Amino acid sequence: MRLEDSVARCASLLAEAERLLAERAPDGGDEAALRLETLDDALLAAWTAAERARPASRAAAARLEDFLFYRRGLLRRLARSGVRVGPGLLASLFRGSAGRRMFVFVTHACQLRCSYCHVAKDSRRMPDEVVDAGVRLMLRSLRSEVEFHFFGGEPMLAFDAVRRATLLARRLGARAGKTTRFLLTTNGLDLGDDELLFLQEHRFSLEFSCDGARDAQLAQRATAGKGDYYARLSANLARLRGAGVPYVVITVVMPGDAGSLLERFRYLAGLGHRRIQVNYALGSLWDEASRAEFFRQMSEAARWARGEGIEFVNLTASRREPVILNGDLTLDCDGSLFRGPVLFDGALTRSSDGRPLGARSEAARSRSYREVQRLFRADRVERALLPDYYGATPFDNFVSLCRAYRSRPRARAVVLDNVEMGLLSRGLPAL
Ligand code: SF4
Repeated sequence: MRLEDSVARCASLLAEAERLLAERAPDGGDEAALRLETLDDALLAAWTAAERARPASRAAAARLEDFLFYRRGLLRRLARSGVRVGPGLLASLFRGSAGRRMFVFVTHACQLRCSYCHVAKDSRRMPDEVVDAGVRLMLRSLRSEVEFHFFGGEPMLAFDAVRRATLLARRLGARAGKTTRFLLTTNGLDLGDDELLFLQEHRFSLEFSCDGARDAQLAQRATAGKGDYYARLSANLARLRGAGVPYVVITVVMPGDAGSLLERFRYLAGLGHRRIQVNYALGSLWDEASRAEFFRQMSEAARWARGEGIEFVNLTASRREPVILNGDLTLDCDGSLFRGPVLFDGALTRSSDGRPLGARSEAARSRSYREVQRLFRADRVERALLPDYYGATPFDNFVSLCRAYRSRPRARAVVLDNVEMGLLSRGLPAL
């Protein structure tokens, strides 16, 4: 389809959804929500095509940019024209944009310095008032189910904040009649018995990151002090297996390591882990050869996992690709609320063998990081009223990333490359 035709189709989908919402006010309804979700898919497809074809039709691409966060404009237009906006209408309007899940960066501290990590390390921890404001915000969601995903840095280093958020969320969730879910991503180095008990009691799911056998792990994931922690990691992984906390082991593959993906997968399964996820390294440039090798080995791993009764998490519905365009909310330690992958800058700067792209100074890096943060900043958590309002769609984040990296062609190439990796991952055979 020509880009101009795609833009016209998007405009007509939007007009139809607007009419349906106005007719069904104040309750909204499935029909309008589905129309908007079709529009989101059409926008993402059109923008992807426009980026692949650049410089194609600049005018049509600019018209696509007018759809950025169109839900907010639509809400304003409906209210201005006197339509009664009830909770049902709001729920239909925002159902398709992210906002059900919040990534909570309880700390930026971490014992490791993984080669693919994009989180700026410092000793900040989330103060109680920010924890409380984040929980209260999510519990105002229009959805009946909300999820808190504790992240960092290493969240076990700020476990008091995790405890506080969980207890408050459960109390407020029960009062509001909402289901609360908790997820935590950990490097596994500080997994004590008390903490495991708490995670079990509150029905957490865990993501435990491990890049395979000792040498592979230590090569990609050195400690800040360069020590050998592998025995500790293995012991904690073994303890986790018997702790009654559902978990998935996540392994991150760099482009240069694509050839060892299957071997690594089998190694982790051989340790007794039954749910395994493989992440391609974001922020790296996947050249044609490494990309082909990655997907060849993924297919092999899928076949092997099926035969062994191992759950290959990438092939389940819970995996949302392209990950780089994920629009869930992120709450940073200092109370800044972002949409999407904003804390992953530093990112978008690595070549296929993991080396930094270009010799950017720290000052330039931090300038660019601030610029990306500015584009993805939603609000201060204590000022935000409705989490759904801030959620973004993959289209919103794709356009924003392209804007952020407009003057950095190599970083922009990495964005397009990582989106492509995500779209190709969608093509893997589902379980
Ligand atoms: S463990 Fe996680 S936060 Fe720490 S350096 Fe590695 S990827 Fe980054």
